Amino acid sequence: MQWEELEATCKACRNCSLWETRTNVVFGVGSRKAEVLFIGEGPGENEDLQGEPFVGRGGKLLDDMMGAIGLKRQDVYIANIVKCRPPQNRDPLNTEEDACIGYLRNQVALLRPKIIVCLGRIAAMRVISEDFKITRDHGKWFDKNGVQVMALFHPAALLRDPRKKPDTFLDLKELQAKIRELCDHTPLAD
Ligand code: URA
Ligand code: SF4
Repeated sequence: MQWEELEATCKACRNCSLWETRTNVVFGVGSRKAEVLFIGEGPGENEDLQGEPFVGRGGKLLDDMMGAIGLKRQDVYIANIVKCRPPQNRDPLNTEEDACIGYLRNQVALLRPKIIVCLGRIAAMRVISEDFKITRDHGKWFDKNGVQVMALFHPAALLRDPRKKPDTFLDLKELQAKIRELCDHTPLAD
């Protein structure tokens, strides 16, 4: 599917029971020409209410993280593994991820990103490998079908434990270097 049809189909989706408790489907935002794709796990309360990924406190921190390497939200694309909010922000079930992952795969096929950044362990386990350990493997590069993929600690985890921030800054510098190496129209500040 092309973007318009994909977005309309996703916004009407009832493929898993998360549709019953959602306010809005959170399809994804950003540039449809982005070379860098960020993937979270699923909408929280603010995202469900506004229909946009990463708009709460964690979203503000994500903007600051990107800002630390001169990246702007409008120059990347941001999506989630599941597009509807799991009740009480519980982890998405495997069955829910399976029901929803086709939308993300279609988004990846349309974008053809050079770089994918997983935000947190849930996204990394789904996108990189089932035995991904975020504490061990954050900041490492993996090649997935020719796409360079890495994971950062989830912004919510950084809010809970600010001691993870120095490591995350180093990971962001790795990301910045990789963008400089591979991307040709992603603006970065110095
Ligand atoms: N956490 C996520 O993983 N995704 C969002 O969109 C918001 C919070
Ligand atoms: Fe459909 Fe995904 Fe929402 Fe489930 S989470 S209803 S599969 S859009």
